Amino acid sequence: MLNISDEFQAAWNTSSSIVVTCACGHTHFASFGNNGNFDEGELEGLCEKAFRSPADYTEHPDLSYVTYLHVGKGIVVGCACQQDTKYENFIWLYRNEITAYLMARNKVDMETVTHLNEQLKQLDELHALQTKLHLDT
Ligand SMILES: [Zn+2]
Ligand SMILES: [Zn+2]
Repeated sequence: MLNISDEFQAAWNTSSSIVVTCACGHTHFASFGNNGNFDEGELEGLCEKAFRSPADYTEHPDLSYVTYLHVGKGIVVGCACQQDTKYENFIWLYRNEITAYLMARNKVDMETVTHLNEQLKQLDELHALQTKLHLDT
């Protein structure tokens, strides 16, 4: 998969900014219509860096913002490091295992809730019994 799917991008927590440094260290900046949004000299400085070290800085003249995924550190969507697609591919490839894991964890949570509810019910009964005994004496 070359690009993450719309479904993954919609489900996951994403943000966007005019300048984003990906978890891999690669800085992306979106210059489309953003002349007024950069600090003075910032865009020129970034373009200069992109010219000198294109492997570390990439201008996106067609984009008005860069989107990134929150997976610990921010991962730029569409970055050449492809960490975004690695996450989606991992989740999709192991969806059965992940589903089984989530269901097992949810079951543990439900058992804990059920146990707590039983304890609360017992406390209620105890309280009712105490009140009744108190009234009887
Ligand atoms: Zn990149
Ligand atoms: Zn990257």
